[in-house]
Amino acid sequence: MRQLPASIVTVLALVLALLAAAAAPAAALPQPAAATLAARPVAVVGTAVPAAAAKTTVALNNSPLVTYYPSATVNIKTKNAKGLRAALQRYSGSKWVTVWKAPTSVAKSSQTVAASYKFSKRATVKVRGTLLKGSKIVARSASQSLSYQKWPTWVQSAQGSTLFEQNRGRVAAGEKASHTLQLYYTDVARKGRFQEYRGGKWVTLKNLNWKPQPGSWYSTAQTVTTPATTKTASKKYRLVVDSTANDAGLSQTVTIRHENPEDYTGYAQQAHEFIQDYCPSTMITVRPGSYAESMWPENRIELYPGLTELGLKYVALHECAHVVQRVTFNNDHARMSETFNAIYKTTGSTGYEQAADCMAFAMGAPDNWAYYTSNCKGERGAAAAAVLAGKIPSVK
Ligand SMILES: [Zn+2]
Repeated sequence: MRQLPASIVTVLALVLALLAAAAAPAAALPQPAAATLAARPVAVVGTAVPAAAAKTTVALNNSPLVTYYPSATVNIKTKNAKGLRAALQRYSGSKWVTVWKAPTSVAKSSQTVAASYKFSKRATVKVRGTLLKGSKIVARSASQSLSYQKWPTWVQSAQGSTLFEQNRGRVAAGEKASHTLQLYYTDVARKGRFQEYRGGKWVTLKNLNWKPQPGSWYSTAQTVTTPATTKTASKKYRLVVDSTANDAGLSQTVTIRHENPEDYTGYAQQAHEFIQDYCPSTMITVRPGSYAESMWPENRIELYPGLTELGLKYVALHECAHVVQRVTFNNDHARMSETFNAIYKTTGSTGYEQAADCMAFAMGAPDNWAYYTSNCKGERGAAAAAVLAGKIPSVK
């Protein structure tokens, strides 16, 4: 409908308006058009004029009614309806059906009556207010759409909304990928599963139960963890959130390569051999370029090709030093940065970069390759040695 030329839409709207004026119920129309039509005062045909002098009127809100809960309240605004009974009708099949009736009659000349409507599932229905004298309708409002809406639940996590996002598809041999997940926008308990694809079928590794938290759209958290495997192998994992009556389910499938550096060949194998005493399971990516980096928070370094043997030894050990820094400081980058800057009398990234050089030399890197510093004396060298030994150096 949205893709039709504007002129056709206009003509169509006019035809629909004429149909409505001819007292055809508007609700049989497709939803987008019906919503537009609902705002038109179509209910004038056939309305009984009450005997009272002042005109009896009934109206709903003049904008679409939206609820985010299965129980909706619809305000029926009445004027000059004393003694009449307000009721709510829903258009169903091809006729209006009364779905709620006020327990008492209207008592004031201007009164809003709160009608309730219960949805069994997310849907948009057409409703209207009526005023009854006995079982006879004496006034009716324009029809109006009533929607039970809900933003879809999604996965919410400080570690990314995609399963094992921080692992970027790889986990070192003997280590586990782990992800703590909450659901956002869920008002009911949700069940799910964490599964691994084995031998042609999905095997559940963990059943998951997220619970709503009062006053929050965040559910409780669930943590999923891959098994550790020492063989280099790609495995498929799946996160499943079951559907509920009012919400669709979710499913995410990711492939994780469990990677054992012992299986490397060529340049990567050479680099692995240089670092294996300190970074035995650290994964190595060799890719084009002219810089190397350590991929926090993964246990992985990236190296560039073409270095001489001694050059590769220095670069690989410098990046391995960053891996050791990450492990020693337990992923607290800010604390690591502050600690080294205090000891090395530096700012920004310079402290931990110089420390990585000092750590690399301590691990056997040739110091004539020093890029950041070759001054590893005194407190500087002691701090490098401490971090290498897994201890956070104290700062005076
Ligand atoms: Zn560095």
